[in-house]
Amino acid sequence: QAKEMGRNNYQFYTPTMNAQTLRRFELENNLRRALDRKEFVIYYQPQVEIHTGKIVGVEALIRWQHPQRGMISPAEFIPMAEETGLIIPIGEWILRRACAQNKAWQDRGFSPMRVTVNLSARQFLQPHLPQYISNVLEDTGLGPQWLELEITESLAMKDVAFTEKTLIELRKMGITLAIDDFGTGYSSLNYLKRLPIDILKIDRSFIHDLNTESDDVAIISAIITLGHNLKMKVVAEGVETKEQLMFLRQQQCDLMQGYLFTKPLPVRELEQKYLSNNTKLFC
Ligand code: C2E
Ligand code: MG
Ligand code: MG
Ligand code: MG
Repeated sequence: QAKEMGRNNYQFYTPTMNAQTLRRFELENNLRRALDRKEFVIYYQPQVEIHTGKIVGVEALIRWQHPQRGMISPAEFIPMAEETGLIIPIGEWILRRACAQNKAWQDRGFSPMRVTVNLSARQFLQPHLPQYISNVLEDTGLGPQWLELEITESLAMKDVAFTEKTLIELRKMGITLAIDDFGTGYSSLNYLKRLPIDILKIDRSFIHDLNTESDDVAIISAIITLGHNLKMKVVAEGVETKEQLMFLRQQQCDLMQGYLFTKPLPVRELEQKYLSNNTKLFC
């Protein structure tokens, strides 16, 4: 692009590039330092069975507790971590941490539940991922049935042969597999049918617009039917209102996650509010 702009723009263009390179370099350093200084924290958001109100799992969601800037959301740094490759050590930390945490909860006598970990593209594409995960389960002592892994729909459909091979390996290990943000990518239903997926998570944008956009009613009910026909459980993400929940219940959606039940919580708060008294009825 610099060439197209011509020689005259050379001096104008260089400083911009340097500033960008510098910013990236700084951010990369900051992320690396954050990992060393243990500035990442995991919040957990319950996944609740709609017809019983029981918590069956928690999704691990990373935050960056920045010493100056406060709590930074994953949307702000995961893309950069992905680009720089730092997502690999960060992702390994999350996986290990979440598994160890779930094992600790079980050891303390809380009702067993799954912990769900999001896998980024780079992480998922690592050739030895299943072996790595197997090591983490062995090291932490967590049973594979208590771990769930999420990949997004668009990642799952990127290289379907690779996805299929990897998911089959993970499934053989006894891990639960979910497709995240379903409905925002372009699934080949033929491939979806072949993949050993246990759970479809309806993207929260569909739930959000439920009240205003009647198209979403049709889309949600189609996704639920599709999931059930493929023997999958369906999770609705981002449920915020009773009306949304009532609709989902009526559509026989299996599970929900959302602010209506609770926002993602730090460990201590989750334990106090929900784990010591698992069965919690709502609505
Ligand atoms: P996601 O995996 O789809 O996670 C769901 C997001 O929806 C979370 O945002 C959660 O806080 C938010 N959410 C849950 N219920 C509601 C609700 O009722 N209303 C609204 N408005 N939002 C709700 P969060 O924690 O900011 O994470 C955003 C995204 O960042 C995640 O989307 C995921 O793609 C990524 N992410 C988070 N943690 C990790 C991680 O440990 N590893 C990787 N690779 N990605 C992560
Ligand atoms: Mg997720
Ligand atoms: Mg999602
Ligand atoms: Mg998402």
